[in-house]
Amino acid sequence: MAVMITDTCINCDACIDECPATAIVSAEDSPLAFGEYTYVKPEKCIECVDSAVPKCADVCPTEGCIVWDMPYDAAHNEHFVDNESYVIRVHKKKGLLSPEVSPRPFRENITEVQREKNLSVGETLKLYNP
Ligand code: SF4
Ligand code: SF4
Repeated sequence: MAVMITDTCINCDACIDECPATAIVSAEDSPLAFGEYTYVKPEKCIECVDSAVPKCADVCPTEGCIVWDMPYDAAHNEHFVDNESYVIRVHKKKGLLSPEVSPRPFRENITEVQREKNLSVGETLKLYNP
């Protein structure tokens, strides 16, 4: 995915308008059956690779709320397709927009280990004051 919003989210929705990929939706629009929090669509998130930092994490008032997830690429197809934490969009012509079908850009300087541990985006990129 890219990035993931965790259960410390206060549903302020400040991140939604900041996302250049329109990847974020409010809890009420979450595709998850019992989605309680603002949700990042992994099939759309581009990790803000063209910006200094991910814009969602930069604006989020809750430290540590937004964390790294795995890259949205073919190597991590199962992680996203067989996981109840996501509902991947089905395109009318292309079918399921899985990482195999529709990989997204990701930050190569964020390691696999950092992603597996779901480290905070803000901590990793030092968005917060000491
Ligand atoms: S990292 Fe960037 S593209 Fe991904 S959800 Fe956050 S603002 Fe959107
Ligand atoms: S800005 Fe942070 S707290 Fe607000 S909705 Fe987005 S993830 Fe949740």
